[in-house]
Amino acid sequence: MNNIRILDTGINLVKNVKTYNFGINSINNLKSVLEKRKNENSYLAHQEKIIFFIDNFFENDNDLLSKLNKSNKDIFIFVDTKEEPSTSKVDLFKKLLIKKDFQNPLAIVGLGGGSTMDYAKAIANLLTNAGNASDYQGWDLVKNPAIYKIGIPTISGTGAEATRTCVMTNSETGLKLGMNSDFTVFDHIIMDPNLSKSVPSEQYFYTGMDAFIHCIESLNGSYRSSIADAYSRETLRLCNEVFLSDDMKSDINREKLMVASYLGGCAIASSYVGVVHPFSAALSVVLKIHHCLANCIVMRGMEEFYSDHYKIFWDMVSIQNVNIPKGICEKLTDKQYGELIDSTVIHEKPLTNALGIGFRKKLTDKKIIEIFKKM
Ligand code: NAD
Ligand code: ZN
Repeated sequence: MNNIRILDTGINLVKNVKTYNFGINSINNLKSVLEKRKNENSYLAHQEKIIFFIDNFFENDNDLLSKLNKSNKDIFIFVDTKEEPSTSKVDLFKKLLIKKDFQNPLAIVGLGGGSTMDYAKAIANLLTNAGNASDYQGWDLVKNPAIYKIGIPTISGTGAEATRTCVMTNSETGLKLGMNSDFTVFDHIIMDPNLSKSVPSEQYFYTGMDAFIHCIESLNGSYRSSIADAYSRETLRLCNEVFLSDDMKSDINREKLMVASYLGGCAIASSYVGVVHPFSAALSVVLKIHHCLANCIVMRGMEEFYSDHYKIFWDMVSIQNVNIPKGICEKLTDKQYGELIDSTVIHEKPLTNALGIGFRKKLTDKKIIEIFKKM
């Protein structure tokens, strides 16, 4: 079996987000987008309710909340992102919404980072498909079209606003895997660079680097598409401009990073990540480190796989004066090292993309532990 057969996604029709608004204050378009949705679909007239998933950072931001034009039929759900989305939390939200008679809303809006947008995407699928979140972790398992949904990113980098997945950790198996489906793609997104002004600098860097890392992995892999390559090259160019500059959070740089995040998401939708993400997923599953910070920590061990971008990455860290924790895997138990190995090599597709089908010959247990010890 060659690499390409293992990596063949079977996707020959690529689905993108249908419509978007972009620009400063574009959040003000939300009202008209929702009204248009209601008016265009007269058969939906009886469905008026809107579910808003909102990052709880904004819980007291009355100025922003007022722009969402909540009616008394709608519901605000403030999402705590201390822990990344899990299947059990998604199931709890589903139960809560059904109990409150929100089974069939007009729309779901996700306002926040990758975590909050992923909750919105997962719930939109689950309200129209029976069962639990874990039933749909995998590829093309979602049967029925989702509830109409709108994504509004407030931090840039993951590309969750563009992709066909919503990442969740399975609370029982520890598996971190999304609902990869065309039905998971947002129907509309609003990209307003004003919204990422308040992101703390270190978080801004960690999440922004997700776009950079997705694209270095994609461009260095064996499963390639010319369109994904073009998206990746532009994403990297924008990330270089933002993170090699003096002020990564200037107005123009927040705008550029929002574009990079979206394009990086489009890139990864038709290609694969590589070595960084499997190691990063293992740090998230075993040591509960958040995805984007985990990626940055993994970069400590990536010189031999991505030498040119490794150097650029550490230049960016130094210019932006960001702290990347060190020594987190130095003194773990044998059991923990074993779990780290298992949670890394389970990601067969990205590792095949990066290192070929014989990736286990290169990534022996000893080698994997050596890499973790560099972090
Ligand atoms: P996040 O949603 O986890 O939020 C990170 C932190 O930033 C939180 O503390 C949040 O409150 C804060 N924050 C967000 N916006 C803010 C703002 N404007 N001002 C101040 N604080 C703000 O962040 P993330 O890094 O965007 O998302 C990570 C998640 O995305 C992970 O669960 C990861 O698995 C997932 N992910 C999904 C995809 C996908 O395609 N669906 C791709 C990559 C990663
Ligand atoms: Zn990522």
